[in-house]
Amino acid sequence: MRTKIVAGNWKMNKTWSETLQFFNDLKRNSHELPKNVEVIVAPPSLYLSQLTNESQPVILAAQNAHQENKGAFTGEISCSMLKSLNIDYCIIGHSERRMYFNESNELVEKKVKAALANEVSPILCCGETLEEREANTHFDIIESQLSFIKNLSVKEVRNIVIAYEPVWAIGTGKTASSEQAQEIHQFIRNLLSKWHGEELANQIRILYGGSCKPDNALELFNCPDIDGGLIGGASLVPEDFIAIIKSAATAQ
Ligand code: PEP
Repeated sequence: MRTKIVAGNWKMNKTWSETLQFFNDLKRNSHELPKNVEVIVAPPSLYLSQLTNESQPVILAAQNAHQENKGAFTGEISCSMLKSLNIDYCIIGHSERRMYFNESNELVEKKVKAALANEVSPILCCGETLEEREANTHFDIIESQLSFIKNLSVKEVRNIVIAYEPVWAIGTGKTASSEQAQEIHQFIRNLLSKWHGEELANQIRILYGGSCKPDNALELFNCPDIDGGLIGGASLVPEDFIAIIKSAATAQ
């Protein structure tokens, strides 16, 4: 039985006072938060150190980190820095990083390895663009984004969370249908099974991301291979985020 995850990716949103307001709202409603869902929020990294005592019961994540532990990389933060603040998760390879910051599959692999080496669990994002889906290359694209996993150890793979995020569904209001999402999630689990065996594949959480909202979350989370969501826009609004968390708690 895999514990569901609902993870909020705030991207470059919210001032510090808006951030405190969000966590206060969440705390005020904490009695509504189900115990059987892991709730994660990835705010801008600037806020992480200040939030380590404020965020309970929410787990904090970073949105990105550099592949090296330290050095002359102005403006960057490392996974060893995250670990030193007890940050347990880091989103890696988000399509916005791939698109706007030219992150290649090779770089994403290095970042995932840096996270694992520092005992930070990567939330590894993959997903095809609209053109790739229309050209029917989406399965190949996803396999190429994830293929380095076959060379990782069992211990490393166990600490990865995968997020399938079709690029055409991110921030567009267009969600993948539950059939489309389940088809890809099952494909990813089959890849994991081919590379590392069925037992390990069945332990890995695979999240769906892309315009996931209170009104479509339950249908998506009810799919057998969807283990929760990576939520952008709707994670900025406490009521919507809580509603999505509740959907994860009631999903089969
Ligand atoms: C995301 O950016 O990871 C995401 C899923 O965004 P949205 O929910 O806004 O589509």
